[in-house]
Amino acid sequence: SRPIFEQAKNVLKKLTSLGYEAYFVGGCVRDAVLSSPVHDIDIATSALPEEVVRIFTKTIPVGIDHGTVIVREGGISYEVTTFRTEGEYKDYRRPSTVAFTSSLERDLARRDFTFNAMAMDADYNLYDPYGGRDALKRRVIQTVGAAQERFREDPLRIMRAFRFAAKYGFSLEEETKAAAGALSYLLEKISTERKRDELLKLLSHPYASDVLASMQDLGVMNHLPGLNDLTAPHADWPALQSDSEKMALLFYLSSHKDCSGFLRDWKLPGTTAKQSEKIVSAMMRCSLPLSWHVYHTGISSAVSAFRTACAAVCVHSEDGIERLLSAYEALPIKSRTELPVSGSQVSALIGDRPGPWLGKLLQSLEHAVVTGVLSCSEEDVLHFIRRWKDERNPPSHA
Ligand code: ATP
Ligand code: MG
Repeated sequence: SRPIFEQAKNVLKKLTSLGYEAYFVGGCVRDAVLSSPVHDIDIATSALPEEVVRIFTKTIPVGIDHGTVIVREGGISYEVTTFRTEGEYKDYRRPSTVAFTSSLERDLARRDFTFNAMAMDADYNLYDPYGGRDALKRRVIQTVGAAQERFREDPLRIMRAFRFAAKYGFSLEEETKAAAGALSYLLEKISTERKRDELLKLLSHPYASDVLASMQDLGVMNHLPGLNDLTAPHADWPALQSDSEKMALLFYLSSHKDCSGFLRDWKLPGTTAKQSEKIVSAMMRCSLPLSWHVYHTGISSAVSAFRTACAAVCVHSEDGIERLLSAYEALPIKSRTELPVSGSQVSALIGDRPGPWLGKLLQSLEHAVVTGVLSCSEEDVLHFIRRWKDERNPPSHA
């Protein structure tokens, strides 16, 4: 009887009034039973994708051959998926074929864990053929069917099990846990992108540290790129605010020496990787004075690096972030373009073509201005440049 379900009921009712079956399924049912916040609602139905498209006015056929249609109703998007059974998982990719079925129970049977294999109808009746509610009560993660078989079918489920453990603080049921450890080598067959997405979700959850430690004990980390000997995975992971911060901390805790290689192995999008590298080098540098650090690193990377460094040692410091922000606010200039002279003007003043010397001169000029040694007036800046010229070419005393 939560507002989010009350609204979503309209979608179910429309389908059932036309003679189809329709249920809430997956994460939303699990979180409803747990009384946890529900973010998005997935619906399973006996209607075929083409029928779903016909019935609703606004739809996006995102994965029509896998049976999924996004339905937009009352300003909210719902994933509506036709009851299906999955074909083989060839080459450890998502199943290449799916077969639609008219049975809810068979649809629930293909799902990974018992608590993800529950359905709820528009009157909030729960369908729980695999004991999902009991698993939630016992706080355990248990596969639907034999764990070895289900993990062999799709080894990504091993990562998913740990992801749910990190979210709820549950433990893996014995057989599920043993199979996760024994078959973790199969993770090497799974695409890096799928593993990366699961890992990043895992790292945003409250119990991430404990779960990383148990993944290590079970040998799962040995089959994830660059994480075989993570030192002290104990960190304040949920404090991190972006994927680049998470990857920066992973690299920092790993025994890897080469940051860009590590990030490349995880196939991160270019911008995330770049940002991560910046954070890592800022964490290690954190050069003083503070004004130069925030100027040179940029405020967002400096804040990220500080937050990541704090998370690495499990301390929390709003003050530190405040200090960085006020140091940035107080900067006389925020970038080279705010200097009263341009590169080409400097080059003309010195009487030499631009070259490596120009970058060095501009950087010492920026450093002097940013650290308050020199004012940013045109007069002082010109004086600085002339002095530099004299030092470079001492006037000959013939
Ligand atoms: P979250 O709240 O984090 O989104 P979720 O349970 O909704 O959790 P999804 O990845 O969105 O997780 O998947 C939706 C549902 O699809 C799951 O609850 C599960 O029933 C099923 N599912 C997803 N991935 C798999 C998989 N690899 N194998 C079997 N079933 C899966
Ligand atoms: Mg979901």
